[in-house]
Amino acid sequence: MNKLVVMKFGGTSVEDAVAINRTAGIVQGRCDKGLAPVVVVSAMATVTDQLLAAAAAAGQGDREGALAISARLRNRHVETAAKLVSAEGISELSRYIEAEFASLEEVLRGLAAVGELTPRISDMIVAEGERLSSRIIAEAFRHRGLDAVHVDSRTCIITDAQHCKAVPQDALIEQRLKEYVLPLAAEGRIVVMGGFIGATEKGVTTTLGRGGSDFTAALVGGALDAGAIEIWTDVNGIMTTDPRVVPDALRVKTISFEEAAELAYFGAKVLHPATILPAVKKNIPVLVLNSRNAENEGTRIISLAPHCRSPFKSIAVKRRLTIIDVVASRMLMSHGYLRAIFEVFDRHKCPVDMVSTSEVSVSLTVDSNEKLPAIAADLSQLADVKYEGRKALVCMVGENIRGQQGIAARVFQAIRHVNVRMISQGASEINMSFMIEEDDVEEAIRSLHAEFFNDPDPEIFDVEAVRKIEESIG
Ligand code: ADP
Ligand code: ASP
Ligand code: MG
Repeated sequence: MNKLVVMKFGGTSVEDAVAINRTAGIVQGRCDKGLAPVVVVSAMATVTDQLLAAAAAAGQGDREGALAISARLRNRHVETAAKLVSAEGISELSRYIEAEFASLEEVLRGLAAVGELTPRISDMIVAEGERLSSRIIAEAFRHRGLDAVHVDSRTCIITDAQHCKAVPQDALIEQRLKEYVLPLAAEGRIVVMGGFIGATEKGVTTTLGRGGSDFTAALVGGALDAGAIEIWTDVNGIMTTDPRVVPDALRVKTISFEEAAELAYFGAKVLHPATILPAVKKNIPVLVLNSRNAENEGTRIISLAPHCRSPFKSIAVKRRLTIIDVVASRMLMSHGYLRAIFEVFDRHKCPVDMVSTSEVSVSLTVDSNEKLPAIAADLSQLADVKYEGRKALVCMVGENIRGQQGIAARVFQAIRHVNVRMISQGASEINMSFMIEEDDVEEAIRSLHAEFFNDPDPEIFDVEAVRKIEESIG
């Protein structure tokens, strides 16, 4: 067995000194089992949002607002570091943190004066979250007796220059990781690196898109042929739906790569959509685990999932979507019409989630975004255009819907009180998705969950956990 294991800890798993100490314990546990961990960490919880808010404020000329956010973040990082690192070790780390905030503030002041936030500056600001967390965590690990060493991800995760959603350059990444990380891991040292961030070949800081630390973990695991990739988060694994919506959602014990990718793409925040790809290519198992409940066995994502008697494994929901209706009777069926429509989206670099066509119209859904008025203006050159926000896409995923009869009838019977705007089945054989109003999400998900997970297959779902809770309630 390959001993290398990539362990990614999300924001909540490193949110404060207590959480970071827990993380150190989990990593120590892997070392005790003879494994060689490479650790990828997110920024401390909410830091990315706050850095983005500071950047936005500065970009609008609100210098004081931006500096106030930065001051709060500085205190949080300094205080966390002081709790983790002893008095003799802290001075160098404190100097690092202070220097980072001094340069962040300089950038924010400059930005407020210029009043224009570019994607390149945004990446430079937001990358601070992972740069700081990874340095602090590496130092904290050393103080707990782990032989940790910090590696700046920007030396290894080489991307193109599409700021805020940069595309990793696989061959270069593999070469750099083999040069800078593999020898350290081979010596028995624990590399700690920040997720989400990278750099162009010229060294300009980039980021991989929100939630991108999962992606970093998979890139590292794929490039170094890891034996496993562990995604440590704040829930017991991939659940039958978001436990914030349905608190008694069940843990899915095993799920296929294909199903997990579909869920991630359609909004199950627990995993970043691109995460799966580098792991699939190399057939590396991915585990989703709970850092607050490390004993739990989590979810195992593998290439072929065992048979499941339930049609669905999980229900994902993607909110804040907009439906765009393009109506053009005169262009009906005309050759090249759809291409002309899609070219508009392409020009604005706006991905489309779902498409449905009728005799005279095409409906498309996209993430609500600031480009919509410009997209609508371009589309109105071709046809009549209407767009409406506050929509949500519900996506039900399971390999077993293939060939089962009557599933759609059960789905729509369960949500008969909800207005369904668009339906899609068939784009992928393992998902059934439809658009509803954002306000109806909670009711729809609860009804669907009750319909499809009331008699769960114990081979696939953690039915034991439910029994234990019921027993404890008596
Ligand atoms: P991290 O900071 O560890 O990356 P995220 O907040 O990105 O964590 O993802 C974990 C969250 O994903 C959970 O707290 C949960 O609310 C949400 N989530 C959405 N759908 C699911 C699902 N099907 N299974 C588990 N968690 C889900
Ligand atoms: N810190 C980044 C974010 O919040 C990346 C991550 O946590 O995966 O989006
Ligand atoms: Mg995440």
